[in-house]
Amino acid sequence: MTGVTTHQLLDGKRCSEALKKDIAKAAADEKAARGKAPHLAAVLVGDDGASKTYVEAKVKACETVGFRSTLIRLPETITEEDLLHRIEGLNRDMDLDGFIVQLPLPSHIDPERVTLAIDPRKDVDGFHPENVGKMVLGLPCFLPATPAGICELLKYYSIETAGKHCVVVGRSNIVGTPMSVLLSRNAYPGNCTVTLAHSRTKDLPSITRQADLLVVAIGKPEFITADMVKPGAVVIDVGIHRIPDASKKSGFRLVGDVREEEVRAVCSSITPVPGGVGPMTITSLLLNTLKAARN
Ligand code: NDP
Repeated sequence: MTGVTTHQLLDGKRCSEALKKDIAKAAADEKAARGKAPHLAAVLVGDDGASKTYVEAKVKACETVGFRSTLIRLPETITEEDLLHRIEGLNRDMDLDGFIVQLPLPSHIDPERVTLAIDPRKDVDGFHPENVGKMVLGLPCFLPATPAGICELLKYYSIETAGKHCVVVGRSNIVGTPMSVLLSRNAYPGNCTVTLAHSRTKDLPSITRQADLLVVAIGKPEFITADMVKPGAVVIDVGIHRIPDASKKSGFRLVGDVREEEVRAVCSSITPVPGGVGPMTITSLLLNTLKAARN
């Protein structure tokens, strides 16, 4: 990570295809041994377009590796009690190895109550406090998909992390905070000195410019510019946004939280959007489902 100006693309699609080959083989072995393939269910409440796209991508990914998948669509108007009741049923369903409840939920449903209702042994999103606590303690658990996927990508590209200064921008429970925990562990990838930045951080550019490894998960299109990046840094862009683009047939293009075009000239490697962190998140969910089936 020294002053290089040519960059390497950290290709999440390629990495996830390689991992999916191993997962498919493991799923076939599991089926031969147990008489059934790993089985994931995804619960989708309401008709939010983005959530529908994400859930369908997860279900499709299951098919490509030989998992069984069940998509449970529930109406936007479902009560919290009814949803909790459905979750109880999924907890008891012996045929199901793991399940996820796609977020965000309609505003009348408390996401914390929903997360707490999921049996931690089936919580393949890794959001239940029992799994979060185990992650912090370094115990076996389901890791949250996005940070775990980023770790897999760093491994795939043999990115050295020990002793590096990692700046994570964004402290959400599903991305930024667990990412900061995983990269500070005494493990590989890990052993970083981690700074966790957020909306109250003063002079963010002076902090991000110190990063050997910069992980950005703030949900603001093209927020990180070249002048905020240390020459030679490894940049992981978690954000994903549709922005209007009249030159495209679809009328939009996808961008991340990083202004990729200009940051490419400064960094040593970067995850593209799309095709970087996104595919890795889905592949992590498959890895967690395989783990649940083996458990
Ligand atoms: P959240 O909105 O939950 O969290 C955003 C975080 O960024 C907050 O901690 C917030 O700080 C911080 N933040 C906001 N503005 C600034 C700023 N100007 N300077 C510094 N910090 C700031 O987002 P998520 O973590 O859920 O997601 C982040 C992005 O990643 C989104 O674009 C999302 O779509 C994408 N995403 C992509 C995934 C993938 O698979 N590719 C998976 C999950 C998310 P504070 O806490 O102070 O409010």
